[in-house]
Amino acid sequence: MMQEEVLMYCCGHALTQHAWRERPVLGSLGSRLMGTGAPARTAAAHPQASLAVAEQVLRDHISVDVHTHAGPHGLTSRTARPSPDLGRSMHAGGLAILCLADVPDGPLLGRNAQNVLTALRPPEPGLLWHVHLERLAWVDELVAKHGIRRALTLADVTAAHQLRQPAIIMDIEGLDFLEGKLERLDESYQRGVRTMQLVHYTPNAIGDFQMGAVTHNGLTPFGAEVIQACHTLGVVVDVAHGTEAMVTQALRVATKPLLLSIRPCAGRGPKGRPPSPSGRSRPRTRARLPRAAGPLASGISSPRSRSTWRV
Ligand SMILES: [Zn+2]
Repeated sequence: MMQEEVLMYCCGHALTQHAWRERPVLGSLGSRLMGTGAPARTAAAHPQASLAVAEQVLRDHISVDVHTHAGPHGLTSRTARPSPDLGRSMHAGGLAILCLADVPDGPLLGRNAQNVLTALRPPEPGLLWHVHLERLAWVDELVAKHGIRRALTLADVTAAHQLRQPAIIMDIEGLDFLEGKLERLDESYQRGVRTMQLVHYTPNAIGDFQMGAVTHNGLTPFGAEVIQACHTLGVVVDVAHGTEAMVTQALRVATKPLLLSIRPCAGRGPKGRPPSPSGRSRPRTRARLPRAAGPLASGISSPRSRSTWRV
């Protein structure tokens, strides 16, 4: 069997062409191009038609990648400086918006003896907050000097698409830096962050994550406070990497729609890895949630809000 070409890495996991097609944001576009929608039959037979369909979809709709680090020279690089490359490649691909995710616990991550990505040590107090602030400065430079707009409101998102100017929504992958200080959410918000993922690979006081030991049996009272604080600020809460119990409890306390940007919310992949974005467990585990994910950006509607998240 031929090995699929790796297109990019995210959270330490390679994304193949197949996995990329399975990503929710581009799923509708992928299905149109890959044979599950009416235009795809034409597209499959004629590559130029395929390209035209893709370009039209991107012109007509605001495309959002809900989770990326912008590649090996992007936000998670320890050495690369911001450059115009990100804006150029978004332009070339016709992608309007990226949720650009900082990974505060990145310095702790590595492969264990089983070659599974994990946090190799606990963080020193204040370290992850320091890392986060330093990465926000990286993004400030990217926006100031390299042709990327910053989307802070829905109007910014719409304007970026209309003007064909690449834009980012600043994202955090794991609120491991809080150390009980909710005021740090406010500071991140003031610096431009608009989506926040609750857990990642480092144990925190918010809730249980898929690759760690279950210590909270889901979401903690502090985690519920974090969700409410994010609602008040106007930040989208991302429940990716959370255990099924954590995600379910988050949906119960949420009063605004939540986001599940990546990963199924239960099960494990081969060799103890998190379940693959294209894993078979996804439909089953999503079906167990209080309300199924929406078709775009894996938007999850809170049963209390009765509304759906749309970009
Ligand atoms: Zn990631």
